[in-house]
Amino acid sequence: MRRPLEIAGCRSECGWRDTGELLDGEPVFACTGCGSEWVPSEPWTPVDYTGVVPEPVAEARRTRGTGWQRGQ
Ligand SMILES: [Zn+2]
Repeated sequence: MRRPLEIAGCRSECGWRDTGELLDGEPVFACTGCGSEWVPSEPWTPVDYTGVVPEPVAEARRTRGTGWQRGQ
């Protein structure tokens, strides 16, 4: 069983980045503003404080189910 994700209320300084960590084979993204975590299989999509989905997150979303396992 995988560990639960940390989900905090996002604040105005949110910014998402790839942590380099893997959880059940999925890349883990974390928010530098509030400490929330996200993986591509989550039903929601994180946005930066600008309201824009960060490119690494959008990329992970596009390739969900296949992309991150390629090239292993
Ligand atoms: Zn946040």
